[in-house]
Amino acid sequence: MIYSHTQISQFLRCPRSYRYRYLEGWRERETRAAMVFGRCFETALGAYFRREDPSAVLFKEWGAYRDIPFEYKKGDSWDRMVHQGVHLLHHFAQDNRIQIRRPKKNLQVKMLRPLPNGNEFLAYIDALGELDGTHSVIDWKTTASRYPEEPEGLLSLDPQLVCYSWITGIPDVAVVVFVRKQQPEIQYLRTTISEDQRQEYGRLVETTITQIEAGQFPSHSGIRFPQNGCVSCAHLGLCLNNQPLIESKLIRRPGAEDLDWLADLDD
Ligand code: SF4
Repeated sequence: MIYSHTQISQFLRCPRSYRYRYLEGWRERETRAAMVFGRCFETALGAYFRREDPSAVLFKEWGAYRDIPFEYKKGDSWDRMVHQGVHLLHHFAQDNRIQIRRPKKNLQVKMLRPLPNGNEFLAYIDALGELDGTHSVIDWKTTASRYPEEPEGLLSLDPQLVCYSWITGIPDVAVVVFVRKQQPEIQYLRTTISEDQRQEYGRLVETTITQIEAGQFPSHSGIRFPQNGCVSCAHLGLCLNNQPLIESKLIRRPGAEDLDWLADLDD
C-alpha cells in the first residue's frame, strides 16, 4: 500500500471518514471556487519560476472554470479572484525572496519513502528552494485570511510541515501564504523541525498504518456541537443516510461499489 499524509491525517481525524474515502471511493465534489483557484494559482507560480508569463498562465488555467457554478465565498467572484491573483503574482516577483534552482526538478517534487511490511509513503513537495538564502522545503498556500503567527513557534506544530521535513530530511520549512483580501498580502513564514519531531512523525505513521490494517473504522466525530467535526465533513450525508446531501457533496470512484461488503465489517 502507498500511504500519504492526507490519508494518515484523515484516519486520525475520523476512521469512518477514512473508510468512506479510501476504501469505498467516496470523493468530495469539486464545488469550492477557492480550492480550484489555489491549484490554478500554483500552476501560475510554476510558470513564474520557468520564466514564463505567470499572469497569462493564471488567466488560461482559471479561465477554464469561468462558467462553472462554483460556491464562491461572500464577496468573491471569478473576476475578483483573478485580479487578486495577478496582484499577488506581481507582489511576489517584486519581493524576490524565493529562489528555485532547476524548477523542472525542484517544483512538485515527488518523494517516496519505504515503510515496514512493503508499504510506502508518498508526498509531493510544492518546492525545494531558498527563502532569503536558507535552503528550505517550501509549501504554497492561497487563502482568504492571514495565517496566525502567534504564539511564536506555532508553525513548527503543523503536521504537514513535519511530514515534509520527515520525508526530505530537511529541517528548515517555509510556508508562503498568498492572502486574497482587500489589499492582497504575502506572508513568508518559516520554522525549523527538530530530529525528535521527525522521528515522532515516523512512529505516528507506523502506528496509524497498523490501526488501518486492523480494519477498524469507528466514527470519531470530534468534540460536541458547535465545534463538531462532522459539520465540515464531506461524508456527513453518508453518516446521516441523507441522499440529497450525498449527491450534492460526493462523487464515487468508478468500480468502488465492488467494496460495499466493507460496510458490514464494523456496522
Ligand atoms: S460525518 Fe462525522 S462521523 Fe461521519 S465520517 Fe464525517 S467526521 Fe466521521
